[in-house]
Amino acid sequence: MAFLICASCRPQVEPVLAPFDAAFVRLYVREIAALPLAVRFESPMGTELGGLTYNAQPFRITRHLGDDLNGIGGWNSDQGDLVYASGTGRVIYTGMPSDGWGNMVILAHRVPDKSMAQGYKIFQTVYAHLETVKVKMGEMISRGAPLGTVGTANGHYWAHLHFEIRESLSVYPGMGYSDEPQDRVSPEAFVKAYSGVAALNQAPK
Ligand SMILES: [Zn+2]
Repeated sequence: MAFLICASCRPQVEPVLAPFDAAFVRLYVREIAALPLAVRFESPMGTELGGLTYNAQPFRITRHLGDDLNGIGGWNSDQGDLVYASGTGRVIYTGMPSDGWGNMVILAHRVPDKSMAQGYKIFQTVYAHLETVKVKMGEMISRGAPLGTVGTANGHYWAHLHFEIRESLSVYPGMGYSDEPQDRVSPEAFVKAYSGVAALNQAPK
């Protein structure tokens, strides 16, 4: 079933990155303090647990910095399907950084973490190659709210969602591939650790 792997989002040409508005290059302390707490994360496509989807190119395979999520029908069968906010957060970027990226939405989340002096870590979830975007800059959205639809990045790839999770205060489009993981973490592992199922498993007996 080699064709199912065709949803790779390796750029055919190096994308030319449009400069970001300097106001959004880094999150400010006041913006961070205003972020809602995100205690739970779910799959951004298919069911909450990622049912009806498959991961065509997982994190770090062929230097990939995210997961490539597809509908189980393959090819472009998932084009136009809803993409959901993985966790509750604030929209800190919407736009098309390059033709090869297509539309991108980035959310910022404040995730409780007792190992940190401030009691939380800041993570970003990144949704790329979108056909449409349903949210606006600065908007607060809840986990599970539709933020856009699955697209092809202007016809560059078979429809799929390039999904990244970054532990970062910097806001930038970046590249989909790198020798080093940089500030990215495995989306699949992260969502699994913070899913409703994980919360149930940790519930006191
Ligand atoms: Zn990708």
